[in-house]
Parts: sequence; C-alpha cells; structure tokens
Amino acid sequence: MGQKAGNENDPMRKWVIFPVLLAIVAHTGCGKSTIRSSSSGSPKKAPTSHTLSTKRTSSYAPKGSGWKRARGVYHRVKPGETLWRICKTYGVDMQEVAEINDISDLSKIPAGRRIFIPGAKRVLKVDPKRVFGSKGRKKISLQKGKFLWPVRGEISSRFGVRDKRMHNGIDIRASKGRSVRAAQAGRVTYAGSLRGYGKIVVIQHADDYSTVYAHLGRFSVKRGHSVKKGAVIGRVGDSGNASGPHLHFEVRLRGRPRNPMFYLP
Ligand SMILES: [Zn+2]
Repeated sequence: MGQKAGNENDPMRKWVIFPVLLAIVAHTGCGKSTIRSSSSGSPKKAPTSHTLSTKRTSSYAPKGSGWKRARGVYHRVKPGETLWRICKTYGVDMQEVAEINDISDLSKIPAGRRIFIPGAKRVLKVDPKRVFGSKGRKKISLQKGKFLWPVRGEISSRFGVRDKRMHNGIDIRASKGRSVRAAQAGRVTYAGSLRGYGKIVVIQHADDYSTVYAHLGRFSVKRGHSVKKGAVIGRVGDSGNASGPHLHFEVRLRGRPRNPMFYLP
C-alpha cells in the first residue's frame, strides 16, 4: 500500500528492491526444521505489503531464482580437474559456482570434493582435452573489505548450498542486544517484519548492491533513512525463524544473493 506510492517517483528502485523482497518473502529463515511450513503454508497470513511485493515482483524475478530448494547436481572433483573446466563443461558461471560452494581459492579444491552445480540436470564427465576457447574469466573476483562486519561473532552457518538447500546469507552468532551496523553507506529500503526473517532491515547501496539484516531484536531506522557505513541500525535478536540470537546477513547484487564472505574483510 504505502510501499507502492513510495516507489512511484524512483523507477530504478523497483528493479532493485522488489527482487530483494521477493527473494526475502520466499526465504524461510535459518532454522532447519520448519523449512517446509512456510513455503506453501498459509499465504493469507502474510501481511498485505508482502503479498503486494510478491505479486509485483514475480515478473521481475531473476531466472532460476529457486530460493528455497536449490536445483542442480553435485559433481565430485576428479584428480586434475579445475573449477574452470568443470564450469565450462556444465556451461555455468564460475563465479557463481565458487560463491555457492564457498571456494575463494582455486588452488584448494581437493579431488573428491563435491561441488554443487546450480541448474545442472545430470552429472557430466569432464573431458580434460576438450577445447573451450579463451572466453570467460579464469579468476574468481573477491572484494574483501567492500563491506564491514555488521556484528562480530562466530559464523554459525555459511552461505551456499547444503543438502540441496540454499542459504542466502551467513549467520553470525552474537548475544541479544548487540549493535548491528550498516555494512556500507546507503539508504534503508525496508525496515519491518517478514515471515521467516522476523524483524529485518534492507539497505540499498550506491552500486546495485544491497545488504540484508534479519532476525533483529529491534531496529532503529526507517525506510528512506540514509545511513553511514558503520551506523547502528538495530540490535541482535531472535525474531522470525531463529533458534537463538544471531544475525542473518545477506549481500545481494541486483537482488541476487552473493556470498558475503567474498566481500567482508
Ligand atoms: Zn541465515
């Protein structure tokens, strides 16, 4: 309702915030036991604003955005196989595969390791002699330090696919009430409650990136607020689908979740 009106004068924001919200609405939180209940459960329970965002976003959703269940196969690395060659064989983006599998060092992929290949329907054989041409980068891009740690604590759950389920962020364990800080300067595009996520803040940054802070105990910003890097935006809590106090933190690029560990110092 109010959300609709607030976005009319800035068409760019539709493209950025709505995919984020869609993905967020589809997200079922960090707990493991209740994943199914909220996916198709009782849509009538969702507050009006979420329903609105979901409706409006469906057509903008990036292709292949299966947030709840990851579609793909596990490829077991054989001796001599490189991530680049594996990704070329499957025709998938190496950066995405690296982030989903939490691989930031290409030289450390031991044979025998299972790598999740998003979107693949069956396991393929990697031909060491096949020529792919020189198209596509052979490096992984890391932007360490682009964002600062929103809160300090042990990482209790990392980004990526486990048991064919995608975790769109990282979970940082911290005691209730600890300050949660903006990972980068930006503008608050959402501050409210979402099923699964609990109390949540979304900050849009200058360069198509956004960051998401969930399961907050409370938040101290409003939609439209500009925040400086490091500004306190809320407190750690356990709202939504959380088994204990922690911060669920996401980094998104044009609405698509990226691995926060590739961006944190
Ligand atoms: Zn989480």
